[in-house]
Formats: sequence, structure tokens, C-alpha cells
Amino acid sequence: MSSFLSGIERDPLDTDFIRMTFRSFVQRGILILMVVNPLHAILLWLNHSDWWQFSLLAMLVQMPLYPLCARKRSFAVFLPSVLTLFAIVTLYIVQFSEHFGSRAGVHYLVMALIPLVVFAGRIGLKLKVFICLVMAIGMFKFELEMAAGANRSMTAAGLEQFRILNLLICFVTISLLTFTHFVTVSRIQSELQHLAAYDPLTQLVNRRTIGQLAEQAISQSRRQQYPLSVILADIDNFKMINDRHGHPVGDAALRHISDLIRSIARDTDSCCRWGGEEFLLLLPHTNLSGAMQVAERVREKVAATPLKALEVELEMQLTLGVAMLMPDEGLIELVMRADAALYEGKRAGRNRVVESDPQES
Ligand code: GH3
Ligand code: MG
Ligand code: MG
Repeated sequence: MSSFLSGIERDPLDTDFIRMTFRSFVQRGILILMVVNPLHAILLWLNHSDWWQFSLLAMLVQMPLYPLCARKRSFAVFLPSVLTLFAIVTLYIVQFSEHFGSRAGVHYLVMALIPLVVFAGRIGLKLKVFICLVMAIGMFKFELEMAAGANRSMTAAGLEQFRILNLLICFVTISLLTFTHFVTVSRIQSELQHLAAYDPLTQLVNRRTIGQLAEQAISQSRRQQYPLSVILADIDNFKMINDRHGHPVGDAALRHISDLIRSIARDTDSCCRWGGEEFLLLLPHTNLSGAMQVAERVREKVAATPLKALEVELEMQLTLGVAMLMPDEGLIELVMRADAALYEGKRAGRNRVVESDPQES
């Protein structure tokens, strides 16, 4: 089944997320039915209609479908289960509507199925619109043609209660499904924002975010005329750490140094993973000598705090380049100067802090 489907080009809106969300939707729908059916049964029983038995029977038949629609189930199990569910619900609505007529309002329950159809995975937009149209036509056909109603076994007052109950069910079901979807979408949205802004390995902000932060900080420092500096730090001989101890230790080293940098930075500073084993610190309200002191503290702390992880004890060192923002400079030019200072530090033997001389650039 899955190999057959994998041959078909996927609808761009048919993502794995939608497929999994649909399963949660179906399961929630079944839970709602587990409440709807007994409510129908009670109301029918109170109105002396034998149809309460059909409501309870529908509940019993739908109940085993709940575990069969779980996320972990294969598609070969999920598909027949969900089709069975739709068939039972459709049959239920049609049978009840034909028996009690449009005044009972059972056909309004079709509206509560719309969120399930819209959020279905694997079927395209056109098919979804088509199914919704068919459902709407079916509902309005009942509404208009069965106005007199069959009303074979209930009083007018009973029918009135039945209709109000069904409208209430529609209202609650649509609200619940829409609300839970809203919660899911906003959770995913904030996860995506975090993924787009932070480096997954070190949880420092990424290059894209530091660009935005620097733009704001630079224009503010110009407006309010306070100094702003950057520190570019590069791990010394990092390639050797990877080669000797392997990539997992290299990754642990990057996390370790990120934590040390974060522990020294102030709340107003921004720490970024600039590249592979390079870190950029953006320091607002900090002049060159202040930034040199911060850089020296970072260098000393890294040198004095070996990484103890994955059965190794690893001493590391950093070389750091420091530059203060000059008039008419942007982030790129500023970082280029810090990079030149860093390069000078590497040439001079590593494990040191070098300041950028603006006169040289
Ligand atoms: P130098 O002292 O001159 O900076 O030497 P270096 O070995 O640190 O510099 P080089 O640029 O030659 O090596 C950087 C290494 O960083 C190479 C690359 O494999 C490694 N690296 C980059 N990103 C990651 C990462 O995410 N994880 C790990 N484990 N290694 C990384
Ligand atoms: Mg490097
Ligand atoms: Mg390096």
C-alpha cells in the first residue's frame, strides 16, 4: 500500500504533520462521539423512542476504532478504520434524519464533520472541497425536502429538544476541534521560530538572528551615541580535537564553550554561533577596552575549564579578535576587522586576545 502511494506525487499541503494531526483529530472525533451517542440515547429514551438502542449500538461499534486510528498504527490499519468511522457516522445521520425528519436536526451534525474533512491527510484540496460540497448539498436537501418530517415516533417537544441538542453538539464539536487545532498551530509556530533563530547544537542565536539583532543595536548605538563592540572567538586547533576524539566529543566541546561564553556575557549582550567553531559576541554599551576585558575573561575561563565528557578530559583554548564600531560601519565591516585581529592572533601563536586597530583598515 505504502509503496503504491509513494509512487504518487505528494500534494504540497499533504505533509507528515498534517497526516499525524489528522489522526489526532479522528481520535478526538471518536471521543466526542462517545459522548454524543449516549446523549442521544438518553434523550430518545426519555422521549419513549426505541431508537436509543441504535445510538448505544453506534457507540459500541465506534469505540474499538479509537486505538486503530492512533499515530503508531500503519496506514493499512488506519485507512479502513477511518472509512468505517465515516460510513457509520453517515449511516447514523441518514437513518436518524429519515426517521425523525428535519425538525430533529440530526442532519446538522454533518457540519461537525467539516473540520475532519478539511484536515484530512492524503487527499487533495479539490477532493476536500468536493466532499464538503456533497455534505452541504445533503444537509440542505434534508433541511428543505424533509421540512414536514417523518416524525414517526416523537412528540413536537421531543423533536425540539433533539434539535437543540444537535445544534449544541455541532457548536461544541466545531469549537473543540478548531480550538485544539489553534493550540497545535501556535505551538508549532513557536517551535519553528525557535528553530529558525537558534543553533540546534549550542542553543546560541544563529547568524541570521545576530544580523537582525546587530542592525537594531547598531542603529540604537548611533542614535544614543554609546559605544558598541564585537568579539570574534575561534577554537584553537579544533580540527585536531575532532580527529583525535571524534565528532561527538567535538560537538560536546562546542556546547561546553558556548555555555562558558554565555555564563560570562551580560543579559544585554548577544552570543552567536557565527560558523563551525567560531563565536560572535555583540556587546552594546561597551568600548574597546571593556570588550578586551570581556574577551580576556572568556579566554581565561575556557583555558581554565577543561571539558569532562564522554570519558575524556579535554583542555581547550580560544583566540579572540575584538573590534569597536566606527562611524559609518555596518556589522559586516565590523566583523571583518574582528576577524583580521583574530587572524593576527592565530599567526602570533594562538590562545590570545587581539584588538583591531581601526587605523589599519
Ligand atoms: P585554528 O586553530 O587555526 O582555528 O585551527 P582549527 O583546526 O580550529 O581550524 P579549522 O578551520 O581547520 O577547523 C575547523 C574544524 O571545525 C573543521 C570542522 O570539521 C570542525 N567543525 C565545524 N563545525 C563542527 C560541528 O558542528 N561539530 C564538530 N564536531 N566539528 C565541527
Ligand atoms: Mg575557524
Ligand atoms: Mg579554529
